[in-house]
Amino acid sequence: MTNKRIYKKIRRTGIGGTLVAVLIFAVITVSVLLVAGQQLIAYIIDTKMSAEYEALEKMADMYERLESSGEADVYGYLDMYERDYIILDGEGKMIHAKGEDTRSGNGIRIGIGTYINNVEAFADKDFSVIYPVERGRIALDPIAFISWFRHDIIKPLDESLDETASADAEDVRERLGSGSAGRQSFGFYGEDDRVIYLVSEDGKVVGGALPVWLSVNMDDKGLKLIGKAMFGVKLRDMEVMGIIAGVIALVIVLLSLYLIIHALVEMVRQRRVTSYFFRDAVTGGNNRMFFQIKGEELLKKMRNRNKNYAVVDIELVNYRNYVVSHSLKQGEALLRKVYRLLEKNTHSKNERCAHMTAPTFGLVLRYISRNGLEMRLNGLLELLEKVDKDHKFAFQAGVKLIDRGEDAESTNIVPWKELDIDEEYNKACAAREVLAVNDETGFAVFNDQLVKDRQWLDTVQEKQAKAVENEEFIVYYQPKYDPKTDELRGAEALIRWQSPEFGFVTPFRFIPIFEKNGFITEIDHYMLAHVAADQKRWLDAGFKCVPISVNVSRAHFIESDLAEQIRDIVDAATCPHELIEIELTESAFFDDKKALIETINRLKGYGFAVSMDDFGAGYSSLNSLKDMPLDVLKLDADFFRGTSDDGRGEIVVSEAIRLAKNLNMRIVAEGVEVKEQVDFLASEGCDMIQGYYYAKPMPGTDYEQRMIQG
Ligand code: C2E
Ligand code: CA
Ligand code: CA
Repeated sequence: MTNKRIYKKIRRTGIGGTLVAVLIFAVITVSVLLVAGQQLIAYIIDTKMSAEYEALEKMADMYERLESSGEADVYGYLDMYERDYIILDGEGKMIHAKGEDTRSGNGIRIGIGTYINNVEAFADKDFSVIYPVERGRIALDPIAFISWFRHDIIKPLDESLDETASADAEDVRERLGSGSAGRQSFGFYGEDDRVIYLVSEDGKVVGGALPVWLSVNMDDKGLKLIGKAMFGVKLRDMEVMGIIAGVIALVIVLLSLYLIIHALVEMVRQRRVTSYFFRDAVTGGNNRMFFQIKGEELLKKMRNRNKNYAVVDIELVNYRNYVVSHSLKQGEALLRKVYRLLEKNTHSKNERCAHMTAPTFGLVLRYISRNGLEMRLNGLLELLEKVDKDHKFAFQAGVKLIDRGEDAESTNIVPWKELDIDEEYNKACAAREVLAVNDETGFAVFNDQLVKDRQWLDTVQEKQAKAVENEEFIVYYQPKYDPKTDELRGAEALIRWQSPEFGFVTPFRFIPIFEKNGFITEIDHYMLAHVAADQKRWLDAGFKCVPISVNVSRAHFIESDLAEQIRDIVDAATCPHELIEIELTESAFFDDKKALIETINRLKGYGFAVSMDDFGAGYSSLNSLKDMPLDVLKLDADFFRGTSDDGRGEIVVSEAIRLAKNLNMRIVAEGVEVKEQVDFLASEGCDMIQGYYYAKPMPGTDYEQRMIQG
């Protein structure tokens, strides 16, 4: 969780701050440059403006003069260079320009063609000045550049300009409509639709023209003349403007370049930083952080509906012991080998592989069928076992499946948005821990039962102390009978949990938990004390008591004074020792053999009989029999569960009985349910039978009846 946060923080701080700073800087610089440039251009234009006004006034005079002289239907344009005007007649023909009468027909209407769309222009007779008109609307600037400046530059502009202008435009359109000279191209052109360049007759660019609106008062009655002046810009001015525009463009380009380079450098830096974050110090491969970030990314990106994913935890069993008996260096070399093997066996793009903690590795694997995945895992584990040719290692894996799942209840369906790889990996680890009871290679898949088991485990651990305190554990007795005479010969004390919350709980559901968490020691004492107290009570009440065996878990045998502890507990109830028998499970015989023999001898010295429980189940203990001075051998219920009818089971049983007899041990057969078995065991000389055929485990009060019956 924290890893993910750290990673996100790096990603964020990397480019964010600088990017914002550079952007702010860029915006400010560009704005300042634009404003400065605008001011400069405005200044240049302003210095020329006064002359324009003069010219316009001159034109107004002329207009009045023409009108009063009876030459109606004229329209005036202001010329640019000569500060003059042109006058068109009703047919659009130029009748006056540059203070001269041009009625000879030199002024003509021309088209600018593709350079400035739909813009027509008038040229004077020398073609040195042009007057753009768009669709006959004089008011409309053909030039974006001008409209951009219009409001700033032409401050005295009348607000009714547009109206007036379009009225004029209508007027002019009518006048131009007839008798126009048709479209011709001539030696000027517009570029970028912005500036109209003026080209002299020998093909030289001599300037550019910007149309500018001007208005002047015509008379005292408030009549105004609005004229459009082509404000000429000399090449030199244009160069200045060009340089300003160039500088602005250059600054913008440089800034953008800086921004891009900066972003790239940041990206590279980030890559490097994240690659350090993802690098595992031991294996040189991917680490846990990588698994968390890139694994989750992969799982979330997974949109391929045919592919399911499995999060896998693989542990090298007993790694710590290997390091202790070899060296850390060798241990880490081994981890490197394991990592390389895993990496080789995972798809580099669609799967993930990482070294998590010292002995564990994390994988994200793709699979199609669960069968396929299991086969692949088995193959992988097999390869891993042989990772070192001199040494065979065990590997255990836990698997958490993430799929669409046919079963809606399944824990395998994880909504993509809620998917947290840490949680999924933790579940894989939980599944692996189920295997930790032994050191064998294998894998376990996380399932719903595992969740329930885990919850149950937590509940039991939480309640255990209180349950003992409240005497919720009760002792059941299962009688043992002599199969020849059907007489009661003994009993085994078996624990039951009468929980106010969960009801009657069988020992299979809590004894293994106590065995793991160590609480079994307390339980065994509890049982022993209760059995001793019961026996003493029954003895005093005159019952015909027989020995009762009590289970003592292997966890107990680490305590060197176990025999004394048992003796003290039984003595506290003043119960005769011969009425108590101690059952040890077969697995206990694997630990410290010498200490075990010692304990058995001491127990026997105190007068307790000692029996070996579950003989023949799981572990082979024939060898331990020769050293263990046991009194009783309990044949495991497994012997009587088989369905073999070829007589082999019976041979084993009769041989086991003979073996016990020869070693001077009594023999008890457990889990006997049918009469044929009883008869067989009787004929073979089995001393006692403890099984449902005779009796199920029962409460003390029922057991009292059994004692009475004998
Ligand atoms: P166990 O010591 O092998 O106990 C014998 C189990 O076999 C008992 O199960 C008993 O009810 C069952 N059994 C006896 N005869 C038959 C039969 O004919 N058919 C079948 N199907 N089962 C039969 P239970 O009481 O459920 O105990 C299970 C295990 O729990 C015990 O196996 C023992 O390992 C453990 N356990 C029970 N009580 C204690 C205790 O007080 N302390 C310790 N440490 N473990 C205990
Ligand atoms: Ca037992
Ligand atoms: Ca048993």
